[in-house]
Amino acid sequence: MTHLDSILLSELAAASAEVDQQWTWPEQQLDRLAQAGELQWVVPREYGGLDCDGPELIARYREVAAACLTTAFILTQRNGAIQRIAASENTDLKQELLPALGRGETFATVGISHLTTSRQHLGKPAVAARSTDRGYVLDGTIPWVTGAAFAQTIVTGATLDDGRQVLLALEAQQPEVDIRPPVQMLSMTASATTSVAINSVEVTHDQLLAGPCEQVMQQGQGGGTGSLVTSALAAGLCARCLALLQEEAARRPDLAATVHAFEHEYNWLDQQFQAAAPSAATIRQLANSLAMRISQACLAVTKGAGFISGQPAERAVREAMFFLVWSCPQPVVAAALEELSCPHD
Ligand SMILES: Cc1cc2nc3c(=O)[nH]c(=O)nc-3n(C[C@H](O)[C@H](O)[C@H](O)COP(=O)(O)OP(=O)(O)OC[C@H]3O[C@@H](n4cnc5c(N)ncnc54)[C@H](O)[C@@H]3O)c2cc1C
Repeated sequence: MTHLDSILLSELAAASAEVDQQWTWPEQQLDRLAQAGELQWVVPREYGGLDCDGPELIARYREVAAACLTTAFILTQRNGAIQRIAASENTDLKQELLPALGRGETFATVGISHLTTSRQHLGKPAVAARSTDRGYVLDGTIPWVTGAAFAQTIVTGATLDDGRQVLLALEAQQPEVDIRPPVQMLSMTASATTSVAINSVEVTHDQLLAGPCEQVMQQGQGGGTGSLVTSALAAGLCARCLALLQEEAARRPDLAATVHAFEHEYNWLDQQFQAAAPSAATIRQLANSLAMRISQACLAVTKGAGFISGQPAERAVREAMFFLVWSCPQPVVAAALEELSCPHD
């Protein structure tokens, strides 16, 4: 039994190739999720939501990712914004934003990677904040924002002169917020991800979510770099690849051993999600590794036919690469590089 309605999941799966190929923002898919109440996962109960977390949240993400990875990915960024808003002590802002977000009437996203994984080697904040009587004036560029053009709110961070950081709910649609055209990528292009230039934008105290403090991203909750949610998406892709291999193996007995080995590894990965022992980074490393190998196995098995643009194996291979770069903490990158450079160890 699935956590989401199986008809809804089938609809997402049926449209997923088109989303990927046409680079179209999955508006209808998000509308369908809203109608089914599936945009309420991380909204607290007091604002009309489901307050879903732990294994149930992970299971839901896995199901959506298996059906349509782009839609699942957009959900993570949107839900990440909601979690940051919900974790703040800004009650007025929560009341203003959360109920409408949960109903899918508005859209929010995050632009926070410049505080964690992106631009860390530059030695200069990507977005600088200057304190004023009314709040903060921001300048700089948020390097990555998924769905920026569709968002009313971007949860983002900025760094003050003294190194302290603030987390803010930035109004996205205003002239000083320059949302660049979406970029074409190896996969996930339909997520309308782009950079956002901020030209002396005033953000008032009533839009403050956290800080000023050191390392503002370590306050409160909201997924986090390389969190279990990111691994849930990789596991969803693995589930889709495994189903493809099983389908091929049903007609081709010579594939039985390969499929059996992947089934075993997939079940083991599944157990790691349930077990408390491994760290989130370890699970992400395992999920990344399996996603890369099982997607390539799909391609090898489906041969030239699977290599054609838009075929499930071709898409899966491109989608697996996303996990090498998205929300990928340094130890996970290091493990991937080790695996890639020492394949016979
Ligand atoms: C499809 C997609 C969607 C995303 N959506 C979001 C989103 O909605 N919100 C969000 O906050 N983030 C998002 N991210 C960002 C993501 O989580 C990572 O932060 C991002 O992929 C890191 O890549 P970067 O190029 O910015 O890293 P950087 O570290 O800035 O690397 C850029 C370049 O700098 C050079 N470089 C890197 N490290 C060093 C070094 N130590 N010394 C010298 N040179 C170096 C390399 O040449 C590298 O190519 C998204 C990413 C992707 C791919």
